[in-house]
Order: sequence, then structure tokens, then C-alpha cells
Amino acid sequence: MRLPRHSGGPHGPKTPLHVLRQRSIRRLLEASLQPPRAALAVLDETNAPNLLDRAKAYAAVLEAPWDPADRNFAWNLIAGVLPCGRGIKGVDVSHCLVCASLPNPPADSVAHLMRCPCLSSLREWFAAAWTQMGWPGNPDFTLAIVFGHAPRCGDRVALVALRGVVISIIRTIRYQVTQDGNTTPPGRRETHSRAAYLMRRHIQFDYEYVMMVTKDPPNQPTRWRPKSRAHFMKRWEKMCTVAHGLLIFNELIRRAEEPPD
Ligand SMILES: [Zn+2]
Repeated sequence: MRLPRHSGGPHGPKTPLHVLRQRSIRRLLEASLQPPRAALAVLDETNAPNLLDRAKAYAAVLEAPWDPADRNFAWNLIAGVLPCGRGIKGVDVSHCLVCASLPNPPADSVAHLMRCPCLSSLREWFAAAWTQMGWPGNPDFTLAIVFGHAPRCGDRVALVALRGVVISIIRTIRYQVTQDGNTTPPGRRETHSRAAYLMRRHIQFDYEYVMMVTKDPPNQPTRWRPKSRAHFMKRWEKMCTVAHGLLIFNELIRRAEEPPD
């Protein structure tokens, strides 16, 4: 199979470590005739459709234009190797680490994390962004975020960007709990403002990219970035407008007037 090419881009040049990881991933993908037990458990828990092409889901994560830490996290979600409960060093409980304070704490798992009350604001934001983009249907949050499986929306690249925003926030929340011992899930306002910030950052980067795209390296068009200003506007017209060369974001992702608490 063809593996993604990583050009310089926002994540810097190739490093020997990066190449090494790509090679081991290639082996993993090629040898994964029978999915490991943990990955099967995730498919089962999330009621992922049988048709779901796992190799494609992995490949999509590997080539997604996200921060490497987000790609790792997304990979771990599909593979079912997200450290859960007792799987985390020093943790000897198996209930959800994020919403443990709620009554009847459910077991900690990938499937639970995606349905966890701590992500309700994020699920709400994702649904709002989907609607804002004018996309039809009603995507299943878990399938869309874990496997990238969603109704046809007309712009896969924009959807990958949106999914990246959500993954990044889930990773941060999870990290705050497991590494920093922070047990208070972020509030609605904090979640929405973080999501808006990440979305603005992506769109801003697209815009800057399109202003300097050329036929020569290193600014050749890539499949992840708009090819022209018109292409940029077509992709993001529901999220922003351009006035005098400046991006004006719509309400969903506008910078809040007040600084966050
Ligand atoms: Zn939970």
C-alpha cells in the first residue's frame, strides 16, 4: 500500500525517528490480517459497522495533517490501546478517570470516553460545527471521531480538520486527568472556546498557505490545503469571510469577547 508522504509542512521536516516509526507502522499495517484483541473490543463496544475498513482508518490517521501527538492519540483510539483505568501506570481503579465523581461510574474504555459526560460540550460543539458547515445527516460522534466514519459531507478535507480539532481536545482532557491529576472536566465555555481556537488556527493556516502557494517547492499545493483563494472560500465560506485580507470568523468560532476564566 502507499504510505503518506510527509512534506515539511507545519510539523517540521522528517526525522530519523519519524522514518523509523513509519517503517514499523508499515509492517503493522501489512501484517494486520487479524486485528489484535484490543482493537476488536473497540469495534465491538462502539458498534462499528462490519464494513469499516480498519486499514483505511489507520492510514487516514497517519496522513492526517494534525499534530503528531493527536495522530498518536487517534491511532491508539482505533487500536484500543488508549491507556484505560488499570492500564495506566499507578492507577488501580477501572472506572472512568474523567467522570469518576458521578454516581455509578462506568468502566473506563474507549467506547465510554466517547460517550463520557465530560465530552458532552464537545459533542454539542461538533454537531453545531457539522450543521454550520451545511453538511447533511447526523453523524455518530464515536464513529466519526474514532474511525473517521461519517455521512458524505462533500468535503472530506474539511471534515478531517474538524475531526482533528475534536481529537486534540479529547487528548488534552484525557492528558490533564491522567498526567496532571486534574479531576475537574472542562466546562462548556472552556471547551467551546478551545475548539473555536483550534478551528480558527486551522483556517488561518489554510489562508496563509493559499496566499503563498506556488508551483515550486516548498509551497506546492498539497491535498490538505486549498489550491487557490477561490478553493479556500468554497471550503470555509460557512465559517468565515475575508474582508481587506483579514479573516472574519462566524459566531461559532469567533474569538470570545471576554478572556476565558
Ligand atoms: Zn466518563
